[in-house]
Amino acid sequence: MTTLKEVKTYLNYINGKWTPASTNDVYSSINPANKHDIVGRVQVSSKEDLYVAVASAKDAKNLWKNLPGSTRGDYLFKVANVLEKRIDEIAETMTKEMGKTFPEAKGETARGIAILRYYAGEGMRKVGDVIPATDSEALMFTTRAPLGVVGVITPWNFPVAIPIWKIAPALIYGNTVVLKPAQETSVTALKVIECFAEAELPAGVINIVTGAGSVIGQGLIDHPDINGITFTGSDQVGKRVGQGAFARGAKYQLEMGGKNPVIVANDADLNLAVEATISGGIRSTGQKCTATSRVIVQSDIYDTFKEKLIQKVKEIKIGDGLQNDTWMGPCASESQLNTVLSYIEKGKEEGATLLVGGKKYDEKGLEDGFFVEPTVFENVSNEMAIFQEEIFGPVLALVKVDTIEEALEVANDSKFGLSASIFTTKVGHMLSFIKDMDAGLVRINAESAGVELQAPFGGMKQSSSHSREQGQAAIEFFTSIKTVFVKN
Ligand code: NAP
Ligand code: MG
Repeated sequence: MTTLKEVKTYLNYINGKWTPASTNDVYSSINPANKHDIVGRVQVSSKEDLYVAVASAKDAKNLWKNLPGSTRGDYLFKVANVLEKRIDEIAETMTKEMGKTFPEAKGETARGIAILRYYAGEGMRKVGDVIPATDSEALMFTTRAPLGVVGVITPWNFPVAIPIWKIAPALIYGNTVVLKPAQETSVTALKVIECFAEAELPAGVINIVTGAGSVIGQGLIDHPDINGITFTGSDQVGKRVGQGAFARGAKYQLEMGGKNPVIVANDADLNLAVEATISGGIRSTGQKCTATSRVIVQSDIYDTFKEKLIQKVKEIKIGDGLQNDTWMGPCASESQLNTVLSYIEKGKEEGATLLVGGKKYDEKGLEDGFFVEPTVFENVSNEMAIFQEEIFGPVLALVKVDTIEEALEVANDSKFGLSASIFTTKVGHMLSFIKDMDAGLVRINAESAGVELQAPFGGMKQSSSHSREQGQAAIEFFTSIKTVFVKN
């Protein structure tokens, strides 16, 4: 375990320099697998610290936007190479700081590297179209202008991939950035920014300011020089970001919660459906915005599916994510653990039947971590909290239905619409699902949690602000279209 002396204190990165906050205050980031293990200390910054960062990003924006896209791309390739060299160390920090298993953390870091390389290439791709003008002597075309300074606010569940999938497109399209990461995973985010620092981007192009959401996050929402805010997190905070940005005419992009269903049809490959339901619902301790949480099963195969599912859930190995044989780590924080446990209690109170799990996991050696048993309920009805609200934990709610039409109706009975999947071998069911499922990602014979960096990502209904991230869709948020008309 780390002793007090060994704990490193990390600084903000502002205007190309590692800088302490003006407050003399630090936050200790702890390991959710053992709350006595401190991963690092980070700055608890003030609004004034943020203002310095915003001013430096504003100063850097003309220099940065006037570089050729290929030069901005070269910087991103360099960042990718540095991150690749540090992949094991940064993945290990992620596991220690938020609990997901080391292979998952390494996979996420590898994704971060791929995202950087993908957007580095974007620096040389087309940004507009030629449109015939009504005047035959004129040339009319579209080009793209960056927004200017972009505020990036990120959650703790993907502490490498989410900051990178926002920062990389922001930068390649010519914006400068101020990042405010989730407090719980600030050390991991700071290590990502160390990679940008090592790649020697011009001072002010990328800045990170750690601190409380209510201070630094709110400061980004309110700052008149922040031209756009990209946010991923809870729907409560997302609404604040949207309202605040709208009120002062800044562009905003929100990616928020999910309550993602999987439909298992009578004709499904049941082993595949069970594997994918467990992987989609319980991997990463259910803390993915695309995690499966509602399992809607057709009646003919309901009992067989349920038995197979419970059998597999009982085999899940819980433990510290750095141990080789661990399949599921802890919840990312004590408050997250308490939220999960309170939803489990609500599920019981509201009359759902607990099939497996349901308690804090207190095996010897793990008492000081935020572990919870993977949990499955049945007899869940649509009005119950465990059916409607995002739990963000390894809790599955089983619902029995007779027909695929009924399954789709149940699946769509949600304020969220991020991701959804169906297991079926019938083309007709697949086509109905593609057409009628209200979700930004619809996946067939694949788990609900799965995102490809080169494809658009985002939700319908209250899961997002209806914009899309990743792939080439990212250009829509991070730039404005300029229509140009030229006549000699
Ligand atoms: P959160 O509490 O909303 O926090 C997200 C970020 O907002 C953090 O950096 C947080 O800072 C900051 N923040 C908090 N209060 C703020 C305020 N008043 N003004 C501005 N910023 C503020 O969410 P979380 O608990 O970190 O993450 C879990 C949530 O993220 C889940 O709901 C999940 O569904 C969602 N999520 C969505 C996606 C997606 O793409 N749709 C992906 C991943 C996660 P602090 O850390 O200091 O509180
Ligand atoms: Mg939070």
